[in-house]
Amino acid sequence: MRRLVAVAVALGLAFVVIPAAGGAVPVSYPGCTIPVATKFRASGSRARCVQLALAARGYSNHRVDGLFGVRTHLTVRDFQRVNGLKVDGIVAEQTASLLGIWGGSVPKSNPVHESRVIGYSVRGRPITAYRLGTPGGKVVLAVGNMHGDEPGGLAVSFYLRYQAVIPEGLDVWVLDTMNPDALASRSRVNARNVDVNRNFSTKDWVRAGGGTKNYSGWGAGSEPETRAMMAFIRAVQPKVAVWWHQPYGVIDLQDTAANPELIADYAALTGLPLSPVPCGKTPCIGNASVYVNTRIAGATSFIVELPTRISLDNAATHAQAFLAIAQKA
Ligand SMILES: [Zn+2]
Repeated sequence: MRRLVAVAVALGLAFVVIPAAGGAVPVSYPGCTIPVATKFRASGSRARCVQLALAARGYSNHRVDGLFGVRTHLTVRDFQRVNGLKVDGIVAEQTASLLGIWGGSVPKSNPVHESRVIGYSVRGRPITAYRLGTPGGKVVLAVGNMHGDEPGGLAVSFYLRYQAVIPEGLDVWVLDTMNPDALASRSRVNARNVDVNRNFSTKDWVRAGGGTKNYSGWGAGSEPETRAMMAFIRAVQPKVAVWWHQPYGVIDLQDTAANPELIADYAALTGLPLSPVPCGKTPCIGNASVYVNTRIAGATSFIVELPTRISLDNAATHAQAFLAIAQKA
């Protein structure tokens, strides 16, 4: 386990963007590529590259040892299942592209103007925000993942970072995850068993749900992941913020949003129904969207509950819906 943490920390450092001459900023993610399909029994640098890319996305139930064995095979299948790909355990063009490692050169990416570590998780993993589009333009925020057992939104954040055409005038901040420990362990809660979407400093915060997957923590903003996110939100003041979750397949009716029409637009563009997200036994206190909507004047923040499976087309649709409402905001 310690070794996996070390790998993840090393990967976090590998995400640092090195500006190139002429202002173009290539992104190395995760710093390796494979030029041909790679599968069970492969060994060496290609197998290691696949393992690193999986670990970078929180699929760390395998060793990064350069041996594409049974565990790596099963992890690839898991990644494919979650992302709506053909489940065959073979890392060919589609799977490798979504992992960001396809091709013999650095994958195509949108220019990143800034790669900001906004804080660190309980276990010391960096929480990184990537700035795309037009710095100084209208600020919008996309958070691909918050609960570690809901990784589908990563396909949307990757799409925004690597493939989407960012409209002129949008200052787009993208986080793959605000909860890297949870993603690494594929759990809903952070490393101190707190549901970070019950931990934001909202007026309705109370300590609740102890011993459950919805524990709100010992205090509002008690968790480093939440504090990092709150400070970042106050610093950049997003006009729109979208948080991707799973698995209900609905767009949350967030009545604290400044412009509910944007939420309806997003629902129409993606074909998902507008419906309240179930909160379980603990009420929806300390919610990230309520925090944004009540702290940032004029902001519209809401949850998108993706269905269990996300195809690449689905991910593109959601990324484009986000950019469309961002333009309209
Ligand atoms: Zn969730």
